[in-house]
Amino acid sequence: MIKFLDLKKNNEKYRKELIQAVTNVIDSGWYIQGVEVKAFEQGFALYCGVKHCVGVANGLDALTLIMRAWKELGKLKDGDEVIVPANTYIASILAITENNLTPVLVEPDPSTYNLCPKQTEKLITRKTRAILPVHLYGQMADMPSIMEIANHHNLLVLEDSAQAHGASINGIKAGNWGDASGFSFYPGKNLGALGDAGAITTSDDELAQTIRALGNYGSHKKYENIYQGVNSRLDEMQAAILRVKLKYLEGEIMSRRFIANKYIEGVNNPKIKLPGYFSTEISVWHLFVIRTKERNALSKYLEGKKIASLIHYPFPPHKQKAYPEFNKETFPITEKIHDEVLSIPMDPTMNENEISYIVDALNAF
Ligand SMILES: *Cc1c(COP(=O)(O)O)cnc(C)c1O
Repeated sequence: MIKFLDLKKNNEKYRKELIQAVTNVIDSGWYIQGVEVKAFEQGFALYCGVKHCVGVANGLDALTLIMRAWKELGKLKDGDEVIVPANTYIASILAITENNLTPVLVEPDPSTYNLCPKQTEKLITRKTRAILPVHLYGQMADMPSIMEIANHHNLLVLEDSAQAHGASINGIKAGNWGDASGFSFYPGKNLGALGDAGAITTSDDELAQTIRALGNYGSHKKYENIYQGVNSRLDEMQAAILRVKLKYLEGEIMSRRFIANKYIEGVNNPKIKLPGYFSTEISVWHLFVIRTKERNALSKYLEGKKIASLIHYPFPPHKQKAYPEFNKETFPITEKIHDEVLSIPMDPTMNENEISYIVDALNAF
């Protein structure tokens, strides 16, 4: 069986260094908010090209805390509208509603699956205060156009970079385009911890400081609480693991691009639509998502050939029980995408024979 993503095999490459990193943390006797977190935050801020990185417990908290901090700073208030792609993973929308803000769902670009600047501009009202582009499947949204619209209408921009560590446009990385960005280090993400972990990036001093306090019971200083905060911190253990894995991220991205290029060059079955992209460099290929009208048949066929595949995502957020207020709305592009997409294996440890086997199988479908 060709696995979709063999996490064990991927982490095996770094076993020695990971064990050393974990051992150092155990031996330090210091497990929360110490040298490992500080060093990882500095390393990841430098990597993204931003002034600040603040480690938090997971990617959803990263997005939630950014908007919570904007509320504390008076930049957002209850009921303000946040424009977000209708086809995103639900976490982007949960972070909006958790803050009593109103998500305004927008149809994506049908080829890149990313936020469409033209559609976005049409939805701006007097209540719109922010845009939340998602760099879906590892490909950057059209940030130059989105920033132009945001600047013109004086809107905040929060990038959801959970799938796009290291992606860039014109040399500017994901996490360094908007006012702030949320990252996830969930084990299956391109930069994955061995458990839950996340971070925010920003070059805004006040925002970084506020988020740091909010994630630590609302406290800047021990036993002095200025906000009704939460506990959402990156632990020393996960930070130490992430420091090891950050060193190899560029190499992992190269492997993913190699695989994506093989798929793009090799697959020529007219029944299968390849993902649209500006250039193969703009994406870090978190997922390789193809489309076909015969999605369920293709998935079964691949299973018969011992090739794993997954659907990202089977149901759009507006059809979920969690959001009855959206259930009656229709988003035809989004719904069509959800009916047709299929993600094929994207595992940096795959060898050329496995990639060719997958290409041949797709072409024979
Ligand atoms: C994974 C993911 C999140 C949430 O990250 P967690 O660390 O799992 O909380 C948010 N947005 C997108 C687009 C994601 O893929």
